[in-house]
Amino acid sequence: MIYTCYEMIRDCRADRAEGWRYFVANYVPAIRKLLARYSPGSAAGGAALERILVALRKPDSPLFQHLDPAPERWFVAGLRQSVLGQLESTAAVMEIDLATVAAALEPLTLVEKQTAWLETMAYTPQETAVLLRMAPATAEKIREKAAELVRGKVDAWRRTMLADNGAALGREAAAARGAECLAAKIFLDVLDGRATWRGREEMEQHVTRCWHCIDHFCRMVEVVELLRGAQPLGGQEAEPFLKLLGIPAEKRPVWKRWVG
Ligand SMILES: [Zn+2]
Repeated sequence: MIYTCYEMIRDCRADRAEGWRYFVANYVPAIRKLLARYSPGSAAGGAALERILVALRKPDSPLFQHLDPAPERWFVAGLRQSVLGQLESTAAVMEIDLATVAAALEPLTLVEKQTAWLETMAYTPQETAVLLRMAPATAEKIREKAAELVRGKVDAWRRTMLADNGAALGREAAAARGAECLAAKIFLDVLDGRATWRGREEMEQHVTRCWHCIDHFCRMVEVVELLRGAQPLGGQEAEPFLKLLGIPAEKRPVWKRWVG
């Protein structure tokens, strides 16, 4: 029998140990990657990871409330938002708001806007080039162009302004969902090459004007990347986390121990 993300959500909601074991083994690696990117200082000690896991385990954790026949990527998109929502804001004061970013970057094309936005998500031009399948030099050039446009709109500009204010900008964009905004599935269809050209054109007309959707698309790009080549934790690696969450480790039959 194949145990999927769907069964995991069902079992975690019912607080069954197998659900939590699967969650720890398969999604702690994704949470670690998110922490390394969005909270680089906290990743080393593991305290942030523990705090997040304990919060997700609580019965009212919204992450496990939706039991749509959810493909794994929808679950991980929710996981990403839960993890980032529990990180403390890095910037003490917000130096630039979404309206200013939107006004500054208005002349850019959609791909250029996505390239610029991934800077708020702490992606270097090189990493961005991989995510958006473009040449690194192209990504760098777009970042330069975007930086100049932002510079023209603010008083105290510095090169790391978008990245430094990324958490706050991301929260603002995520909250700015409108009636016309697209569902995650549409972005995933585009990323998988399943969307029709016509569907894609309509999408672009909205998305290029909408920073909620630009952010949402970039988040889905990140989710796809998080799952690419992800290795589940081995039994020993998972053990401390299961202990933390009060989940009994799986009793493996003797013959299985011999095999590995
Ligand atoms: Zn939108």
